[in-house]
Amino acid sequence: MRRKDLEITLQRNVQSFENPKIELEQYQTPPRVAANLVFRAFELGDIVDKSIVDACAGTGILGIAARLMGANDITSVEVDKDLIDVMNKNFSLLDIASIAITSDIFDWEPDKIFDTALVNPPFGINRMQRKFKDMDFIRKIKEFSKVIWSIHDGSPTNQKKLPMIFQKNGLKVLEYYIDEFPLTNSYFFHTSKRKEYSVMVVRSTKISQ
Ligand code: SAH
Repeated sequence: MRRKDLEITLQRNVQSFENPKIELEQYQTPPRVAANLVFRAFELGDIVDKSIVDACAGTGILGIAARLMGANDITSVEVDKDLIDVMNKNFSLLDIASIAITSDIFDWEPDKIFDTALVNPPFGINRMQRKFKDMDFIRKIKEFSKVIWSIHDGSPTNQKKLPMIFQKNGLKVLEYYIDEFPLTNSYFFHTSKRKEYSVMVVRSTKISQ
């Protein structure tokens, strides 16, 4: 499947959050951003025939994209039990075989190591309400994943700092690129309905001890 076809398939078939919960920072990765990420991961050999975990899966879009591009198996983990029906509906629309697990990622102890993790974690932007920040999620995910593809704040300051932060957390940034993430709700920006937000898409792996 071509990158554009992947984007169109996601656009047409993946339902987003109906009533997003701000305290869980629920915002769906737009189909274009999801297709770009998974297609790049595909090009680098992180998808085809691989065992994939979609951590903080939301409505399941990243795992779905990976399966469409040839992943062997997908496990989608999401803390919010209200999303399980949306996720399963999305899977069945596209005839996707995936294991959907309702669990807090911090309490989850899988019995295998995954080849690739895909994650758009809460950024911890809303500090008043968030207990964890994106790096807390990445640190946890690295316990059970060989390669991690993750989405982060792409501000110029963060672009400078993030590789070092990954390193401090025992991870090496293998590559990253910047993408534009349109936010259509007003979680983070109260003055405008739609705003482009730069995100940094990072491919990383554990630094071997
Ligand atoms: N991966 C989806 C959703 C991103 S939004 C997408 O790309 O569209 C972040 C998701 O993380 C939300 O669905 C939120 O409910 C979930 N989440 C937040 N804290 C979590 C935790 N501790 N464990 C598992 N999922 C969590």
